[in-house]
Amino acid sequence: MRFLLLLLLALLQVSLTDYLIRNPDFYQLDAYTWESGEFREMRLGEAVAGSAALDMDELTAAMIDHDYDLTGEKTIPSDRFRESLLLRRRPEDYRKLKQAYETVFCDLRYFPVPASSRAGTPDVTYADGWMERRTYGGERGHEGCDIMGDQRPRGFYPVVSISEGTVEKAGWLEKGGWRIGIRTSSGLYIYYAHLERYARDWQEGDKVSAGQLLGFMGDSGYSAVPGTTGNFDVHLHVGMYLRTDHFRELSVNPYWILRYLEKFRLKYDY
Ligand SMILES: [Zn+2]
Repeated sequence: MRFLLLLLLALLQVSLTDYLIRNPDFYQLDAYTWESGEFREMRLGEAVAGSAALDMDELTAAMIDHDYDLTGEKTIPSDRFRESLLLRRRPEDYRKLKQAYETVFCDLRYFPVPASSRAGTPDVTYADGWMERRTYGGERGHEGCDIMGDQRPRGFYPVVSISEGTVEKAGWLEKGGWRIGIRTSSGLYIYYAHLERYARDWQEGDKVSAGQLLGFMGDSGYSAVPGTTGNFDVHLHVGMYLRTDHFRELSVNPYWILRYLEKFRLKYDY
């Protein structure tokens, strides 16, 4: 009896594989998936935020299987069968998508604002503000996540590097104010904007280690005049960009990535 049941299960699995391979639209995966709006939204959810370590094959397979939306998931469904299926059907597309997730996650170490060791210090807050409407410098969508520190004056909250990497840009930018852009060794560009001041005189090419103090949170920017402050509440804008086949800078939503990083938070005395 048990043997017959196992045989039946085995046959069902074979026919399911057969069906899936013959129906290329069954899974949302094509050559542009890893540059699509669905990918950029990074709707990773509690499943990723709660993970201590991420398996990129599981993550890639789960995201494809859930239409790039794990926001309702508490655990990442682990399914080696599905993963091998995706690999067999579209190996190049699967590889690129997985590589994109690796670029995003592999070098990330710390949440960019350390926790305060002093009782009574209000913590920073943030929400998913991806693609919210912004109007300064023209109508556009918000390409990043704002970590608010408006309970304290500019210059209060330290900002540390999420990853190791190399300084690619530093100095004044009209929209970003005092900003710093760091390229990780995997190729992710992390952009920190609106600083009050830098921890040191950063130059292009400087090496940065994960957790190193970059500067302090502020409200600089929204002006062509360097040093302008006060045009919005004190916050740290975090942007994340990838180089892809078709885009020099493809922005992805940092919200769930920051949620994932909350587990890895330095403690500073401030
Ligand atoms: Zn922002």
